[in-house]
Amino acid sequence: MKAVYEKYFRSNLPHIWCAGCGHGTVMAAYALALEKLGYDKNDVLAISGIGCSSRITGYLDSSTMHTAHGRALPVASGAKMCEPRLKVFVFMGDGDCTAIGGNHFIHACRRNIDITAIVMNNNIYGMTGGQYSPLTPYGKKATTAPYGNIDHSFDLVELAKGAGATYVARGDVSHMKQLSDLIVEGAQHKGFSVIEAMTPCPTSFGRYNKTPDPAQMLQIFRDVTVSVKRAEKMTAEELEGKILTGVFVNREAPEYVEDYQKLIDSFQGGDK
Ligand code: SF4
Repeated sequence: MKAVYEKYFRSNLPHIWCAGCGHGTVMAAYALALEKLGYDKNDVLAISGIGCSSRITGYLDSSTMHTAHGRALPVASGAKMCEPRLKVFVFMGDGDCTAIGGNHFIHACRRNIDITAIVMNNNIYGMTGGQYSPLTPYGKKATTAPYGNIDHSFDLVELAKGAGATYVARGDVSHMKQLSDLIVEGAQHKGFSVIEAMTPCPTSFGRYNKTPDPAQMLQIFRDVTVSVKRAEKMTAEELEGKILTGVFVNREAPEYVEDYQKLIDSFQGGDK
């Protein structure tokens, strides 16, 4: 791990995330994934929006961009169009991705541009004080829902599937190897890959929902998550209240940058 630390992180650690925050584990899973992928880090571009999760680009030692709230995906799309050789990773929080950047997210899914989006879902806006997000579960508390959230939350996997993403997976920080392997597979997939990374926010979500202890939050993740493979052998009663992890979609479709290049080639070749 020390070699990975020296290779992929800048020298400005320790990070500023709260003790027990899961974002550091997502960052470690990503670094291990890069090691497995064997990419030259000069070919890697990591882009984030705004929020606690988006601090990640401050620590990663590759090309990075810390952009505006919800706008990481359009910036990433522009970068990929200009430099198709780049391996582009986008880090977003749940509010960043599905509220402020919700429109960008659904259109990136249907466009199938070769980018890997890692959505760090802690079910709340952590940095701005614990407001509920579109992924805060029904009934859970937040500073803006002190008596319980009455909005029904998105299921990010179903949202990405419905919008046309060609690789969709979910992992969590209590199963770091699985999460790292999903990032590897998503990066190798040609097209738009979405990996939901469930991560605990003990300071905001935990404090308002009577689970402020980070170890307790991790244990809850371990208790509620079930891999899609294991789920096949379980009954509907056994699956009640469980959250499935693993790969939900992995299919081929024309990739956007390649299609765009074909259009350019056809014009330059005088076909039109
Ligand atoms: S507020 Fe929550 S998400 Fe933000 S750093 Fe603290 S624990 Fe992590």
